[in-house]
Amino acid sequence: MEITKSNDPYLIQRIAITDNLDNAYLLEVDGICPLCGKYMLLGKGKRMNKKYQIAHIYPNSPTPNEVKQLEGLERLGSNCEDFENKIALCKDCHGYYDDHKTKEEYLDLLKIKKNLTSVSKAKIAASHQDLEQEIILVINALSHIDEESLQKMKLEYQALKISNKIEDTYIILKVKVENYVCIFFNFIKEIFQDLDQAGHIDFGLVASEIKTTFLKCEKEMSSKSEIFRSLVKWLESKAVGSSNEACEAVISYFVQSCEVFHEIAK
Ligand SMILES: [Zn+2]
Repeated sequence: MEITKSNDPYLIQRIAITDNLDNAYLLEVDGICPLCGKYMLLGKGKRMNKKYQIAHIYPNSPTPNEVKQLEGLERLGSNCEDFENKIALCKDCHGYYDDHKTKEEYLDLLKIKKNLTSVSKAKIAASHQDLEQEIILVINALSHIDEESLQKMKLEYQALKISNKIEDTYIILKVKVENYVCIFFNFIKEIFQDLDQAGHIDFGLVASEIKTTFLKCEKEMSSKSEIFRSLVKWLESKAVGSSNEACEAVISYFVQSCEVFHEIAK
């Protein structure tokens, strides 16, 4: 007997994947196919091609054979369209998985997804508090900026969206910056405000220092990922002993608040 969607409440109508969700799936696996280890973004000239698809772990429309194979096994999420039941796979592995799914392969993929879910939950929980402390240290280190190294320049404080500054070809960088901004923007802003008001730091000087450094990097590099990395390195050298993540968070703050990366010419 064929089991239809109507008598299996787990199976609901397919839900389209938004760009944000697509990014989240890619980030979850660090851009690497969790089955074969292949990198799933292919640079072609200035473009970055997607070599992945979002796969259902438990199929959205199982064949009678799949229903039989997967009967009684654990399922992730409350229905087949939940984030928990989907995972980014390279096109080859996705095709193979969809066509040749066995009980073992289903359980393998389910286990991979469960691990990824618990890793990212732990990462978020642990990184949050530690990072806040480290960000404070990084920002404090910025207070020892040598004024002589500053150039006279007018800072532009336009509130530009990140998406206008980092082209889609730098998708990994974009997702990273967006995540940092989403989590830490207000926190970093408050720290800067507090330190500025208390006279420990001159935010205008710090911002112009970052911008000067960016302009120097920009002369030598064209890739935004490269510029981002070198700015993070530069900050690490200023805040000795600080973590890479804390420095990335602070540089992301400046990407968002406009000192880094000009708006992309449309
Ligand atoms: Zn693969």
